[in-house]
Amino acid sequence: MGQVKEIIEKCERYIMNTYRRLPVVFAEGKGAKLFDIEGREYIDFVAGIAVNNLGYGHPKVVEAIKRQCERLIHISNLFYIKEQIDFAELLIENSPLDKVFFANSGAEAIEASIKLAKKITGRDVFISAYNSFHGRTFGALSLTGQEKYRKKFEPLMNRVKYVKYGNEEEIKEAINKKVAAVVLEPVQGEGGVIVPPEGYLKAVRDICDEKGVLLIFDEVQTGFGRTGKLFACQRFSVTPDIMAFAKAAGGGLPIGGIMAREGLEFDVGEHASTFGGNPLVCAAARASLLTILEENLPQRAENVGKWFMKELRRLSSVYEIREMRGVGLMIGVEFEKEIARKVVLNSLKKGLVLNNTYENVIRIVPPLIIEKEDLKKGVDIICEVGEDD
Ligand SMILES: *Cc1c(COP(=O)(O)O)cnc(C)c1O
Repeated sequence: MGQVKEIIEKCERYIMNTYRRLPVVFAEGKGAKLFDIEGREYIDFVAGIAVNNLGYGHPKVVEAIKRQCERLIHISNLFYIKEQIDFAELLIENSPLDKVFFANSGAEAIEASIKLAKKITGRDVFISAYNSFHGRTFGALSLTGQEKYRKKFEPLMNRVKYVKYGNEEEIKEAINKKVAAVVLEPVQGEGGVIVPPEGYLKAVRDICDEKGVLLIFDEVQTGFGRTGKLFACQRFSVTPDIMAFAKAAGGGLPIGGIMAREGLEFDVGEHASTFGGNPLVCAAARASLLTILEENLPQRAENVGKWFMKELRRLSSVYEIREMRGVGLMIGVEFEKEIARKVVLNSLKKGLVLNNTYENVIRIVPPLIIEKEDLKKGVDIICEVGEDD
């Protein structure tokens, strides 16, 4: 029996079947390339779901992790953690917000932002967008504006109103005296890479100010250079009151958290996390952020992304493309129904790692360090796959 087949069978035997996985087992990565256990090489357009912004094996991140794990991996927040404080300083200095709380994932970041908004405002209704994705825990799932994820788990937090993404008037109408916060992804990710209409986020900011409601941005996917600025809120020149981050924050190690504006904070005992901001993950996160800044990767995402959007137009000569959209290196290509998954599976066989999301969209979120040549080769492969059919 083949090694891959054996591994897949073991997975089915021991691991709960929550994921629709692609039939490949990776052993190694270098830059924006991956290698499976049989040594086959792949170009990576997924980056571990917008996590590996520096690609694989970046020496700065590897070195920081090696050094830190030999010294101190975990200690808990019963003590002051130098590595955590150093990362916080660098993060805050490069964001428009003032203070940070560290958790371990995107969903946890959203949970923290829900609790903080409730505590600060004393209100408990949230406004969220249809088609949004905020994570799988109870609070985060409640905010997620896609019924398919929620319906087997209801009742959830019942005080969420969903509005059409991109329409500020609906937000205006939905706000009343019970609303604590409006929660939005600055660009919807999992929902198919939806870029908001020009001026939308700014208009929502104004409405929130006028009505005295907090604005929470879920930058879990858009953060750390993905959209052409370090944070998407900087790209759109709109500062939220609270921002959730995770995915690319830890250079591949799990970390999430929230940043908030001065004066919006928890007090002792109101929130906590055993692992949150531990020395190892913070050393990796700081090395990763320093590198993103030193290598000017947000700007690179912007420049390369612009070029790549043009390159992707070649797909239109092979496929019926419904739409192509994106900012920086966060791009969605919407195919005709049923086609996207087929493209993903067939591209994998030719050495390109893709991800399809929201029915028929291929979400392209490669490492920000990927070479143009590899992006071009990736487009070649997607075209070939279409021509073969
Ligand atoms: C991935 C994601 C989450 C959830 O993050 P987890 O780390 O999987 O809990 C939340 N919000 C957005 C926008 C995401 O892309």
